This record gives sequence, structure tokens and C-alpha cells, in this order.
Amino acid sequence: MAQEDVFKKIVAHCKEYGFVFPSSEIYDGLGAVYDYGQLGVELKNNIKQYWWQSMVLLHDNIVGIDSAIFMHPTIWKASGHVDAFNDPLIDNRDSKKRYRADVLIEDQIAKYDEKIDKEVAKAAKRFKENFNEEQFRTTSPRVLEIQVKRDALHERFAKAMNENNLEELRQIILDEEIVCPISGTRNWTEVRQFNLMFSTEMGSTADASMKIYLRPETAQGIFVNYLNVQKTGRMKIPFGIAQIGKAFRNEIVARQFIFRMREFEQMEMQFFVKPGTELEWFPKWKETRLKWHKALGFGDDHYRFHDHEKLAHYANAATDIEFLMPFGFKEVEGIHSRTNFDLSQHQKYSGKKIEYFDPETGESYTPYVIETSIGVDRMFLSIMSASFDEETLENGEKRTVLKLPAALAPVKLAVLPLLKKDGLPEKAREIVNNLRFHFNTQYDEKDSIGKRYRRQDAIGTPYCITVDHQTLEDNTVTLRNRDTMQQERVAIDDLTGIIEERVSITSLLKTLI
Ligand code: ATP
Repeated sequence: MAQEDVFKKIVAHCKEYGFVFPSSEIYDGLGAVYDYGQLGVELKNNIKQYWWQSMVLLHDNIVGIDSAIFMHPTIWKASGHVDAFNDPLIDNRDSKKRYRADVLIEDQIAKYDEKIDKEVAKAAKRFKENFNEEQFRTTSPRVLEIQVKRDALHERFAKAMNENNLEELRQIILDEEIVCPISGTRNWTEVRQFNLMFSTEMGSTADASMKIYLRPETAQGIFVNYLNVQKTGRMKIPFGIAQIGKAFRNEIVARQFIFRMREFEQMEMQFFVKPGTELEWFPKWKETRLKWHKALGFGDDHYRFHDHEKLAHYANAATDIEFLMPFGFKEVEGIHSRTNFDLSQHQKYSGKKIEYFDPETGESYTPYVIETSIGVDRMFLSIMSASFDEETLENGEKRTVLKLPAALAPVKLAVLPLLKKDGLPEKAREIVNNLRFHFNTQYDEKDSIGKRYRRQDAIGTPYCITVDHQTLEDNTVTLRNRDTMQQERVAIDDLTGIIEERVSITSLLKTLI
């Protein structure tokens, strides 16, 4: 099945089973804003818990905060967001559609890459086991010709972005003959800068009101609380501050479902270190974060690092963790070495000294920062994409199954009486009433047992417990595994322990250390 169709199915599945709904749907929706439904909120909470605990519980020197969304407007001046949090936009005059100029060019670069990959795939088919991919990539005249064009475009693009040269960006679009996907024409407007921050007014009268912003990232709430936390928590460098919260960006092109939203949630951790040690910490955090992702068990081939060639002026290293989505490898997390830029800027704009006094050496300095920043919604999408599966069973039947990591699954257990009589429902209810204190548990007695299993498979419930006549005799039940569909017979008294071991976030966290 084409990857595009797979993606459509995932979006439809999210809606059909109460994971994600378009916002304000009865009013025809609101662009790039989404609501999480009854199952979505559970999955999202589990993702947040997995992240929070991996940061705050597993590290002696990381603490959390929850700062306000509204902040003093000067913060955004100091951070550079008022002046530079822009995207270059371009309109097509015929379709009246708006695009990000940089994204149009990046897509064009990706097209060159795809062409090369196609050449490689064709050759691999032709030469079979004698195929040497590396040799082919470095010697095939056709591949080299495309590569030269690609590299030249990439270089020109990077230069234009670095110099903020909007005319040059437009010229690249024209020279590359990039057309609007809707109208198919090259009737482009000029390229303009567009600030992504939403603003509103605070205060009750027009005169006294102040223009404030909805935060476009949670990180600044951490920076401006650095001294509060360091002093009250008696934190010693190196230490980190973690935060989970909403962020808002007026994205020009909102697309790909919850991949790019205007209201989203971030999980960010700023790790404060001694100047000069940041490039030792940077690879450590890269490794720690990749391990966190890989522990979910989707397979190592789903991840790759993308090191930034173009660094923000204040950064001295940056990488993205990319995940293989149905529409290609895409960023889910950024890891940045941000030097002392943010703290120094806040020191400058607030006039307050923001430093760390090192009791061991007697020196004072402004700490450097390694940041890890991940979007909850993008993480959610990556998990849904990798978990969604349509299987054909041995008997020819089809089943849709969400192979969610058990620790993140919204519902952990379903308790099903085999029949709606003979005291089986009563016994099943009794089991639910004990287990509900430990796990999110559902009770279901409607339809055949096969149909009930399918319903649980579709929402990713890792285990189903079936209560049958034998249960009444010996207090055992069958425990069915979602992925293997194998059943085992276990004593009711052992259920909590067995399931806890297999589905808890604690078990997942233990794999990290
Ligand atoms: P992109 O290049 O995709 O716009 P970014 O580099 O601007 O992302 P950061 O500012 O580094 O993103 O934000 C950190 C993380 O926040 C991203 O890795 C992503 O997971 C998430 N994120 C950023 N923008 C959005 C958005 N509009 N919708 C959903 N998640 C987002």
C-alpha cells in the first residue's frame, strides 16, 4: 500500500477510535488545531509520564517546573523571537495558496535525493548480489550528475538562508522551476518574512493594556526561572530543569495532521553546565535521548540523527532525532548546545545578574546550556504510525491492530466473560473491580469473543482476560497477548503481578539504566 494511503488510514483510525478529533469540528474545524479524545488523552498522558519520569525520577540532578504560558513581553525581545522568529512565505497568485519558501526548496532537494535512490534501486535489481552500493553511488555518471545539481542547490539555499536573502530564495524557486502543487503554475509573489508568534492584550483598558505573546516554546520559562530553581533547590552545576507545556506557533503551512500544529505541547529540558564542557555533554544527551526512543521497541532502523549544518548564531552544535513517519524521516526532537546565549540575554535585558557561583573553585560564570526539546504531538504521531498494522490471519480474516508499546497503551486490559450467563459476568466484574486500582481496565460482554478481541486490538490493548467456566472451578483465567494472540492460563491471584511487570512504565524505565 502506498505510504500516503497508510497515513490516511492512520488519521481515520485516530478519529474513529477516539484518539484525535479536529478541533471545533461541528463548526468545520480550525486550521491545524486538534483535540485529543478519550483514548488519545490516555496515550498522551503516558508519553508525558514516560518522558517526565525518565528525566526527573532517573536523574538526581534534574528537577521539573511548570511555568505560565503568559510571560513578560521583554522575554521574547531578549530571546530574539520578536525580531527573528520568522518563516519566509511565498504565495502562488493562481491558487492563492501560501507556502514556506524554505520548505518548497527543501522538498526540491528531497526530489533529487529520491532520484538518486531510484537509480540505486534500479541498479541493485539489475546487478543483484554483485551490487556494491557505495561504489555505484560514487561512480555512476547518472548519479553523479544528479548529485552535483543537488549539492549546488543545497549550497545556494544554505547561503540564502544564512544571509536572510529573500530575493535569492525567490530566484531559487524560479530557477528550479518549482510549481505550485495545486495550480501547477510558477506565478509566485515576492518572499516575505512572517513572525510566527501569536499575540494578545493583557489589561482591562485599551490605554493600560500590554501586548503579550502566547509562548512559542516552553524553554524561556525555564531560563527565566534558572536562578529561582538553582537557589531554592540548592542545585549544583551540572543540573537540569524539565518542563512539559503548551506552545503556540502561527505556522504558515499547517499540514500532515498533528505533525505541524498551531497549538501543541513540548517536553523540554535545559541542562546547565560549566562553560567549556558543553561539547562533552552534547553527545551524552544525544545518546541518552536516542536510547529513550529506542526503548519503545519499534526497531533501530526507524531513527536517525540529522546534524545541523546551518547553526543558529548562538549554537555550537545541534542535531535532530528523526523518525521514519509514513511521509519519510522527520524531526521529532531537537538537541541543541545553546551556549550561554539565553541566560546572557536575560541578564542584559532584565539588568539582573544571572550567574552561578562554583563553591569548589570560587569562580562565578554564566552557565552553558544543552537543550533537549521534543514535541508530545509529534511523538504521538510517530507512535501511532509505527504501531498501526493491518494483518491477514491464517484463516484469511483481516485484523487491524495497534501494536502500541504496552507501557503507553491507553487501556492495559480488557476483562471479557466468555458468555453472558452462568455467573461469568459477575465473576468478570469482580476481577475488574480489583484490577482497576492498578490498570486502566475495560469490561466488555457484548458480541462474540472474536469481535471483542478485535475491538481491543484496534485500540492497542495489550492484554485480554477471558473468564470461562473453568474460572468458576479453579480461579484461573486466560490471558491473551495482543501481538501473538497466544493465550496462557493464569491464576487470578497472580494477575496483578504478571501484568504489572509487562505493562508498567516502571518496567520500561528499568530498560533505560
Ligand atoms: P520544524 O523545523 O519542524 O518547524 P523546529 O525545528 O522549529 O521544527 P523546535 O523549535 O526545535 O522545532 O521545537 C522542538 C520540537 O517541538 C520539535 O522537534 C517538534 O517535535 C515540536 N514542534 C515544533 N513545532 C511544532 C508544531 N508546529 N507542531 C507540533 N510540534 C511541533
